[in-house]
Amino acid sequence: AAKAEGRRTWRFFEPAMNEAQRRRRALEAALREGLHRNEFSVVYQPQVNLSSGRLTGAEALLRWQDSSGTRHSPADFVPLAEDTGLILPIGEFVLAEACRFGAVRPSLLVAVNASAVQLREPGFARMVERTLQQTGMSASRLEIEMTETAILRDMEAVMSNIRLLRHMGVRIALDDFGTGFSSLSHLRQLECDRIKIDRSFVKEVAEQPQARAMVRAMVGMAKAVGVELIGEGVETPAQARALREEECAEAQGFLFGAPVSAEEFDRLRLDRGELASVD
Ligand code: C2E
Ligand code: MG
Ligand code: MG
Ligand code: MG
Repeated sequence: AAKAEGRRTWRFFEPAMNEAQRRRRALEAALREGLHRNEFSVVYQPQVNLSSGRLTGAEALLRWQDSSGTRHSPADFVPLAEDTGLILPIGEFVLAEACRFGAVRPSLLVAVNASAVQLREPGFARMVERTLQQTGMSASRLEIEMTETAILRDMEAVMSNIRLLRHMGVRIALDDFGTGFSSLSHLRQLECDRIKIDRSFVKEVAEQPQARAMVRAMVGMAKAVGVELIGEGVETPAQARALREEECAEAQGFLFGAPVSAEEFDRLRLDRGELASVD
């Protein structure tokens, strides 16, 4: 009876463990397939100047719709793509798409997210250089976004890529700024071109004095070291006004436009000429 009981217990836990693994493997297989079947695409979110309302750039964001029609959020599948190394070919795809997009829209800056796994690859900067050459995109209009945690993971390898990118004239942006650690020292070491104030601060900037004080501190810091700023996740005119009052020059968020396909992006530009001024 004890033996049977033990076996039952074992049977009870084992399938549960396998279930999580199985789901992971299925997702990994689906990711691999998706890459071959061209299920990935890139959408573009406008970035605007808060004083003029002018469109200044676009952030390229990855999208995946699998063969069953299900749309997966990058927040869910990017971590698995990083674990399996699939983020390398996927990341190359995003970069190539974004550079082709930017090459024919010479007034725009194009920002592309890079994961820690890409940034510590010895050949990353060279891959970027090759892609710029092949697409005709200019280095000075390409911005690579990274988070502080990504840089910290393998500081030396990442810094070597960053130096090469900067040498090529590619811009560097610190994404989700304010959510990582020791932001001050990174700002100095990185010599980044701009910081993206995380959405969590922008969300409260119009109502919460503390959030506004944090934004003010970030703006002051950025100005002191000569770094540009952009506020992320702006959804309301009040948030945009507060950012502008704090002298944050640029913004990005649903208020100005959600991420859309390249074709829709151009329609948006034509329809509105200039994207929504704040007032
Ligand atoms: P992120 O780089 O911080 O991108 C901003 C995210 O905020 C995007 O989510 C965007 O759609 C969303 N967003 C923009 N405006 C607003 C707003 O006003 N309100 C709200 N609530 N959200 C807003 P998305 O596209 O789902 O991407 C999530 C994250 O996935 C990105 O955060 C980035 O970390 C990662 N990701 C996306 N594309 C790529 C990629 O090509 N490569 C890598 N490595 N990571 C990517
Ligand atoms: Mg980003
Ligand atoms: Mg961000
Ligand atoms: Mg993020």
